Amino acid sequence: MKKLKNGKENKNGKGDDCWTPKVCSVCDSHLEEDAGDIAGYFGILPVGFCTWCLSSVIDMVIQLQGYDDIEILRERMIELGQEERKN
Ligand SMILES: [Zn+2]
Repeated sequence: MKKLKNGKENKNGKGDDCWTPKVCSVCDSHLEEDAGDIAGYFGILPVGFCTWCLSSVIDMVIQLQGYDDIEILRERMIELGQEERKN
């Protein structure tokens, strides 16, 4: 997800504020950047997440990728180390 930078100009010359979602894309609660809520893009689709929904999405990814399993994490760390040595 590409995070928005409020107040900066984007490619089309418009400020990102015009694309910033005002409500969470999951639960529809009002977003507050100062409270840790985030906004950005999934591809070209503007999305926003409150901290509750963001933590749930992160937890879902952790479970779907198996990153809550120590052996899978060890394997992934080895892979990342190998990739780092190539670069
Ligand atoms: Zn939410």
